[in-house]
Amino acid sequence: MRWSQAFIPTIKEAPADATSVSHLLLMRGGFIRRIGAGIYEYLPLGLRVLHKVQSIVRAEMDRAGALEVLMPALLPADYFRETGRWDVFGDNLLRLKDRKGGDYHLGPTHEEIITDMVRREIRSYRDLPRNLYQIQTKYRDEPRPRGGLLRCREFTMKDAYSFDVDEAGALASYEKMRVAYTRIFDRMGLAYRLVQADSGSMGGSTSAEFQVLVQSGEDFLAACDSCDYAANLEVAESRAPADQPAATATPPLSKVATPNVGTIAEVSAFLKAPPDRFLKSLLYLAGGEIVMAVVRGDHELNEIKLARALGVSEVALANEEQILKATGARTGFAGPVGFKGKVVVDRAAALVHAGITGANEGDFHIIDVEHTRDYQAEVRDIRSVAEGDGCPRCAKGSLKVYRGIEAGHIFVLGTHYSAKMKACYLDDKGAEHPIVMGCYGIGVSRLVATTIEQFNDTDGMLWPMSIAPYQVHVVGVGQDAAVVDACNKLVAELEQRGVEVLFDDRVERPGVKFKDADLIGIPLRVTIGAKGLASGGIELKPRTERDSKKAEIVPVDRAAEVIAERVRAMLTT
Ligand SMILES: [Zn+2]
Repeated sequence: MRWSQAFIPTIKEAPADATSVSHLLLMRGGFIRRIGAGIYEYLPLGLRVLHKVQSIVRAEMDRAGALEVLMPALLPADYFRETGRWDVFGDNLLRLKDRKGGDYHLGPTHEEIITDMVRREIRSYRDLPRNLYQIQTKYRDEPRPRGGLLRCREFTMKDAYSFDVDEAGALASYEKMRVAYTRIFDRMGLAYRLVQADSGSMGGSTSAEFQVLVQSGEDFLAACDSCDYAANLEVAESRAPADQPAATATPPLSKVATPNVGTIAEVSAFLKAPPDRFLKSLLYLAGGEIVMAVVRGDHELNEIKLARALGVSEVALANEEQILKATGARTGFAGPVGFKGKVVVDRAAALVHAGITGANEGDFHIIDVEHTRDYQAEVRDIRSVAEGDGCPRCAKGSLKVYRGIEAGHIFVLGTHYSAKMKACYLDDKGAEHPIVMGCYGIGVSRLVATTIEQFNDTDGMLWPMSIAPYQVHVVGVGQDAAVVDACNKLVAELEQRGVEVLFDDRVERPGVKFKDADLIGIPLRVTIGAKGLASGGIELKPRTERDSKKAEIVPVDRAAEVIAERVRAMLTT
């Protein structure tokens, strides 16, 4: 493709509404344009990338034995009404009426539609297992669309649904998808972690997220530096703290005046004691009861873990009035000693010796507190993990905290939809059972943006070879006849070898061409100039994360061969 005939409207200025690097660069590089809140057009370069992501996803789904279908985006309301999601989705559903007044919506996901397809067509255990997928435009009326392709109201998803006779079959289908997803993200060259999601909300079924590691990610996860343990920060665990010998030397507790100092930092400075000696005591409302949760002063309480430890669905921080009523003191002076209610203490806090905590009396703290000697509490893991904590799965690893973007999600649905919608099969004795389902999503258009969130520098995008809009960017320097001839010859030879080439043939200053080349980030750049040609060489420079600064000179007569070989090598690593 010649730039002069292409449609690559690059822009210098950052769009005012760009809130993420990928949004900024995709706009500047002329890959996408916005036509409404969370609604984007793909220009030729953007569409080439989208298609390449789709073909990797399609190839790996096919390899895993899934069968491609295409369901409509425009859906009659009946199906979502059948499962109650017509109401559950609320304002997130884009609804419309047809000329006869019938209710319709644009599909945000297709569980109901695929379940309907299967209940009509599948009767017998002999028809199972099946895995059906589609690559389809989805709609969600996001309250705050942002980040360009990261969170849109119209987006492209790959959604797959597996159908099995039993839970064991569903788990085998799930495992196949896990492998397929791993291959997809590996082929795109992404750094990612497979993260166990909070299975609580899924009713205890198997579920995991593929999180692409990027600094700008909205999700936080903790991952081991030595094994494959990774979990959302909300549910991540750490290795249990080692038992410590009981303190025998701690003097009996005593009360000290701490006038007008309530926060850990203030009391810590006032008493000249480190925060890890403090027993931070927080009051929560859990299932109608006031409960005290105690963590070490340098640790963060995790409300999800606390709720789980208490066997309730959620906990809420007590208000000032409730705290006063429960402890007799204002906020900042609560403590477990003498507290007349349930106390849950974190594993690490329970091991604190000569601890310091609130006295349940305004302007007073208690020092030299020992768990069990001075207060009784249930010992549980109720704190959020922190960078450097020991891995709960292996003996030697420690946890690192990352930010990530969810790029894929796999889970076993069980019979939630099939039971509601009566999608059943007959077993070999003629008995009827609901089909056991799994569902597997990949945000295809979001992956375009996520890749750029991971691979970029101050000059622009750094596309992995596998999804780059073109593989090689040929830049001719000057309008010298010899240069133009050499460019045309090399481009023709590369195209003959099946290499995708973008040839910048514009009558522009080299600086403009190089800036645009850096911006759109095609992974191999070839520069042909009169000076190099005179000595028989052209310059080859990778624009990749690892070696975007390393240029080499390749002999003109072998250039096509060398470049084609380099493209092949970069496709497989
Ligand atoms: Zn580990």
